[in-house]
Amino acid sequence: MSEDLQEVIVQIRDTVKKVCEEFPAEYWRAKDRERSYPKEFVDKLTELGLLASLIPEEYGGSGMPISIGVEILKAIHEFGGNAGACHAQMYTMGTVLRHGNDEQKQQYLPGIAAGDLRLQAFGVTEPTAGSDTTNISTFAVRDGDRYIVNGQKVWTSRAEQSDLMILLARTTPKDEVKKRTDGLSVFLIDMREAQKNGMTINPLRTMINHSTTEIFFDNLSIPASSLIGEEGKGLRYILSGMNAERILIAAECIGDARWFIQKSSDYARERVVFGRPIGQNQGIQFPIARAFANTEAAEAILDKAARLYEAGETSGTYANMAKMLASEASWEAADTCMQTHGGFAMAEEYDVERKFRECRLYRIAPISTNLILSYIAERELELPRSY
Ligand SMILES: Cc1cc2nc3c(=O)[nH]c(=O)nc-3n(C[C@H](O)[C@H](O)[C@H](O)COP(=O)(O)OP(=O)(O)OC[C@H]3O[C@@H](n4cnc5c(N)ncnc54)[C@H](O)[C@@H]3O)c2cc1C
Repeated sequence: MSEDLQEVIVQIRDTVKKVCEEFPAEYWRAKDRERSYPKEFVDKLTELGLLASLIPEEYGGSGMPISIGVEILKAIHEFGGNAGACHAQMYTMGTVLRHGNDEQKQQYLPGIAAGDLRLQAFGVTEPTAGSDTTNISTFAVRDGDRYIVNGQKVWTSRAEQSDLMILLARTTPKDEVKKRTDGLSVFLIDMREAQKNGMTINPLRTMINHSTTEIFFDNLSIPASSLIGEEGKGLRYILSGMNAERILIAAECIGDARWFIQKSSDYARERVVFGRPIGQNQGIQFPIARAFANTEAAEAILDKAARLYEAGETSGTYANMAKMLASEASWEAADTCMQTHGGFAMAEEYDVERKFRECRLYRIAPISTNLILSYIAERELELPRSY
C-alpha cells in the first residue's frame, strides 16, 4: 500500500473516531430500544462524504479503492457505531456504475454521491426461494416501453430510507432458459414513484435494529429504461456486486471483533473477584487472546480479498472467505465478551448484549456460512455440487 493511502487511512480513522464520539452508546441504545433509524449518524457520514468514497470523482465521489471503504466501515464498528443503516449506500451503486448505461450513470450517480439520492435498498431475497436465488418468482413482463412487475421480496433492508432500489426479477420463465442463471434481470426502481403505483413496503421487526422490510409488487409499472444492462443477464451483475458487499461486511465484522476484544480486556483488567482482576485467570485471558488471534487472521484474509478485488480479480473465493472468517471471529469475540462480563453482559447499559445480537446477523446474511463452504468446496476443491 502506498504511503499516500496509508496517510488517508490514518485520517479516515481519526475522522470516524470523532464521529463515533459524537454518537455515543446512549444514542445507539435509544435507537435500538425504539427500533428507529439512526438518521443523524447517517447524515453526518453523508455530510463528510464517507459514503461516497467509492464513487469515481467524475460523478462527485472521491474515487477511492475498496480498501478505503474497508477502513471506514471497520472503524465505524470498532469505535462503537453501526454502519448497517447505510453501508449499502456505499456499494449498491456499483451495479449502476459497472453495468448501467451513460445516461443512467449521469442521471443517478452524482445525486447518490451528494447524498441527495439514497440507493441503499437491494431486493434479491424472496420468502420461497431463500438462498436459491435462481428460483425467485418476482416477474417483470415487458409491455411496450414499460415493464409490469409482480411478486414479493423479503428482508429488503432500508427500503423505507431509500429513494432507489436495485431489484432482481425474472424476465424469462425458468423452464424457457438453457441455464437457470439466465433470464433474470436487474432494474433500478424509483421507489418514490413505485409506492404510488403498486409497490407496498411493510417493516419487519427483528432482534436487531436493521430497518428491514418485506415488499410486495402488484402490477407495478416501471419505465423500460429502468433496466440495467442487458435483459436476462442480471444475475451476473448482481454477483459481481456481491464480492464488494462481502468484503465490506467482513470489514464491519473485524471492527465489531475489535470492539468486543477491547471491551473484554478492559473489563477483565478492572473487575476484581476473589481479590484479583478476573483477567489474571487464564480461563478469562485465553479466550480473549484466541479471539484476538482469530481476528488478526481473518483480517489478513480480508486484506487479501480487497487486494484481489482492486486488481480486478473476479473470483469470489477470497471475498466469501473474508466474510465467513470475519463473521466467525466477531461472533467468537462477542461470546467471549459475554462470558467475560458475567451477569453484567446482560445489562443494556454495558452494550454487550446489543452488539452480541447485532454481530450474529453476518453469519447468515448477506450469504450464510454453509453456502460459502459449498462455494469453496465446488470452486476450489472441485468437489461435486451438493445442491
Ligand atoms: C436482517 C436481515 C437483513 C437482510 N437484508 C437483505 C437485503 O437487504 N436484501 C436481500 O436481498 N436480502 C437480505 N437479507 C436476506 C439474507 O441474504 C438471507 O437471509 C440469507 O441469504 C439466507 O437466506 P434465507 O434466510 O432464505 O435462508 P435459507 O436459504 O432458507 O437457508 C436456511 C439455512 O439452511 C442452509 N442451507 C440452505 N440450503 C443449503 C444447502 N444446499 N446446503 C447447506 N445448507 C443449506 C443455509 O445455510 C441456512 O443456514 C437479509 C436478512 C436478514 C436476516
